[in-house]
Amino acid sequence: MALVLTNTLGGRKEPFESLVPGEVRMYHCGPTVKEHLNVAKFRSYLLADLLRRCFEYAGCRVVQVMNITDVGQLNEFEEDIVEIAASRTGLSAVELVEKEERIFHADRRALHIRDATHYPRAREHVAEMIAVIADLEKRGRTYEAAGNIYFDIRKSPRFGELAGKPAEDLERLLAGKKQPPGKRHLLDIDLWRRDVLHQTHWPSPWGRGFPGWHVECVAMSRKYLEGSFDIHTGTCENVFPHHECEIAQSEALTGKPLARYWLHTGPVLVDGLPMTRDNRNVMTARQMLDAGFRGSVIRAALLSVHHREVLDFGEAAMDRARPRVNTILAFHEHLKEATTGAPRPELRRKGSPAPWIEETETRFRAALDDDLDYPRALEAVLGAIGKLEPEDIGDPRQALEALERWDRVLGILA
Ligand SMILES: [Zn+2]
Repeated sequence: MALVLTNTLGGRKEPFESLVPGEVRMYHCGPTVKEHLNVAKFRSYLLADLLRRCFEYAGCRVVQVMNITDVGQLNEFEEDIVEIAASRTGLSAVELVEKEERIFHADRRALHIRDATHYPRAREHVAEMIAVIADLEKRGRTYEAAGNIYFDIRKSPRFGELAGKPAEDLERLLAGKKQPPGKRHLLDIDLWRRDVLHQTHWPSPWGRGFPGWHVECVAMSRKYLEGSFDIHTGTCENVFPHHECEIAQSEALTGKPLARYWLHTGPVLVDGLPMTRDNRNVMTARQMLDAGFRGSVIRAALLSVHHREVLDFGEAAMDRARPRVNTILAFHEHLKEATTGAPRPELRRKGSPAPWIEETETRFRAALDDDLDYPRALEAVLGAIGKLEPEDIGDPRQALEALERWDRVLGILA
């Protein structure tokens, strides 16, 4: 395959080459399961799904890890966001994350996002996180302040490389944020909080407490992908601080790059406005499914512009996606009927595939190879269907096979 990907690290298009030939190993920052997930999050899970489908289409073996964050993420007031959300529902933190994780999986299946190889839960990997922190401590990269353990970022000269900004600029972004006592540097990374009042706390060499969010992905990618891997994905909001912090810690541990390619989805607007709580326009996949939108239409709308670009997601995006999905579904039905119903002489052409199939295949592959251009790949298929006369279809079995093959990437039928 001649795949070229825009790497956030460096900001350029680069030819893709996997570390192990024929195998692609990926880590995707997954959901914090404290509430129904918004469509911007699903946009990044769809990018992960698209990558996986493209690699499988090209015949590669794929290992996909997507973490489930269920502990350790703090808000600007230093409160655990899962516990805060739980306190509003009357559920315990554990009950809430278990419920929301089930909903996440149901929603992603509705959007035809295939099962990753592993969905490690942070709570079930605290021992691995403690091992990472102990390892960093042994290497002299941590310090203790008021019972908490921090990673000292001043020994990470490449901090800021992924965001394309020097550490001082990033520090300015955090100015005014509440700081725990004794933390030396705004950018230093929370590794362990000593806190026996936290709803869930574990024993550790530094006292009972809970791990910091940024150490979770480091420990889980280390466990399931064993060192460097090919692709790391997330939303643009994950670049800093989360991914910068992952890079700093894992490079301190191994001296090697964590991932070779970093891919991020762009921001999502709703009818021109940023999707935020303040704008009261946060849309969740669950809301849309409950309102009767089909998962395949939500999927097509979220993939309707290139993953790095700003996506304006509102009624108009859904209205544009719906007829596209319907065209694929109707053509699929038509071909199924043509292959199972009474023989129709104009469709019974045997031999090599009809020319339109090969032309579409070429355009389809070229679009995906060019930085995963899903909208152009879908357009290649829709454009071909739109121009087809019944006598051009050729052997309907071959046409059906081609459509289902393309859909292994598009994910509209399944
Ligand atoms: Zn992560």
